[in-house]
Amino acid sequence: MAFTNEQIERYSRHIILKEVGVKGQKKLLNAKVLIIGAGGLGAPAAMYLAAAGVGTIGIADADEVDLSNLQRQIIHATADVGKAKVQSAKETMEAINPDVKVNTYRTFVTSENIMDLIKDYDFVIDGTDNFPAKFLINDACVMAKKPFSHAGIIRFQGQLMTYVPGEGPCYRCVFKNPPPKDAVPTCKQAGVIGAMGGVIGSLQAMEAIKYILGIGNLLTGYLLTYDALKMEFRKVKLPSETSGCAVCGTHPTITELIDYEQAECDGVGL
Ligand SMILES: [Zn+2]
Repeated sequence: MAFTNEQIERYSRHIILKEVGVKGQKKLLNAKVLIIGAGGLGAPAAMYLAAAGVGTIGIADADEVDLSNLQRQIIHATADVGKAKVQSAKETMEAINPDVKVNTYRTFVTSENIMDLIKDYDFVIDGTDNFPAKFLINDACVMAKKPFSHAGIIRFQGQLMTYVPGEGPCYRCVFKNPPPKDAVPTCKQAGVIGAMGGVIGSLQAMEAIKYILGIGNLLTGYLLTYDALKMEFRKVKLPSETSGCAVCGTHPTITELIDYEQAECDGVGL
């Protein structure tokens, strides 16, 4: 595949980097990334991946754009209110970069559909806002041997970790089980600064790009936490022993996907 003059210009700031170059840009154009959730995290992740020239981007979300989403979900505009989020996201990504093929899935992820959704993608971004989805994505990615980026945001705080099969702990290694229903407030109840999605969702896009290019160190084996009020990032080393994990351990007790009960405010989007 030879680049057009327009592509050489579009990707010139990538191509000039020795860690990317023409070869790396081709890897990006051949890569497939699935983003689950077109909300506060998924919006910036999707826009940066589209801009970077990730050739195939899948986006899954069942919701429609709500006026209260626009404070942080920057992939959607005021005129998109009422439109399916996946459609609005697709239009924005295609407007940023016509090189990108966008696949839309207007659905929530469930134990029924997730294996099918993730199977054709190289990397998964968890941009969901609820624990049942986060555990489902983790377990499915572990079972399907798919690398993924986990992230969560609330109020002024965010967290991030990356799972790569065989290279470190999974989300369940660290968090074991979802907290009891209603024990943890959702963003709708607790609030979130919009730029928090920008910070953490952009880091998710960066992890996907580094994974595709095979450069640098991924956030495997670490949890990155961000406290915006203190302006403090902390990279916490996670225990490297994973053999006892219920899903990625040597004798897994979770061998089928679980649909945990959804909290009442789920589905609003971060
Ligand atoms: Zn695990």
